[in-house]
Amino acid sequence: MQQTNEGQGLILAGKTAIVTGAGSGIGRAAAIKLARAGANVCLFDLMDDRTEDVEQEIRDMGREAEFYDVDVSNSGRMEAAFRAAAERFGSLDVLFANAGINGTLAPIEELTPEAWDETLSINLRGTFLAVKNTIPHMKTNGGSIIVTSSINGNRKYSGFGMSAYSSSKAGQVAFTKMAALELARYRIRVNAICPGAIKTNIGENTHRTKAVDDISIPVEYPEGSQPLEHGPGQPEQVADLVLFLASAQSSHITGTEIYIDGAETLL
Ligand code: NAD
Repeated sequence: MQQTNEGQGLILAGKTAIVTGAGSGIGRAAAIKLARAGANVCLFDLMDDRTEDVEQEIRDMGREAEFYDVDVSNSGRMEAAFRAAAERFGSLDVLFANAGINGTLAPIEELTPEAWDETLSINLRGTFLAVKNTIPHMKTNGGSIIVTSSINGNRKYSGFGMSAYSSSKAGQVAFTKMAALELARYRIRVNAICPGAIKTNIGENTHRTKAVDDISIPVEYPEGSQPLEHGPGQPEQVADLVLFLASAQSSHITGTEIYIDGAETLL
């Protein structure tokens, strides 16, 4: 379905969006939703067939889509990719800084500094690099930045072994608030979204040590259950929130974190 504003056509017509982690899950759903609303979309991800599929799907809608093979934690590659995207599309209007990994889930006693660094590099440094490289291309016309954090950044129980992931997600919320304050003078809004469990491919590359399984505390509700959905939410439900934050319909919202978790956090 096309996303329109009554009588005003597509709500992101003529806009350009960058989506990191666009090859799968929440990023993929958001890239397609933003394109349906009229945006041309730059797809940032690691080389993967799945990203090429999204690129084709968006082109089939009659929008422009370009895939950039980039590791979000690599400063030089990120700078070059943003420059190339801006040269191709002109100014950038929307950034969805979404790429992320669970990384290694291990008790702190067993977590290696390398595993800690990997999670923080992709989730937190990757967000910093995306926002930093967006500013020169967004500061003239303003725009909207949306960061994918998680309910795990601020939760009474996230499961054992989540110290690196949860730290990266809490850091993203703090970074979002500071960025919103700094960038308001350019009319750039910055918000974080905090999904609960969403049905995606994020578990594919997660490494869980045996110790995590052995010491995890059983919770009253099975992991991933949500009062509203009785299970994980769908990436398309998160994409609806991304579209709202990307559009002028959220023009007075900045510096905040929005939970999208079917009340999972209240359990
Ligand atoms: P996913 O694995 O389906 O998609 C993540 C995408 O990010 C993949 O396409 C992957 O290739 C890409 N990616 C990973 N490392 C990258 C790197 N270094 N450079 C560029 N791209 C990279 O997972 P998802 O669930 O859609 O995750 C998206 C975001 O949502 C993540 O930040 C994750 O922490 C967050 N999140 C997910 C859930 C959930 O339950 N799925 C809940 C809360 C938050």
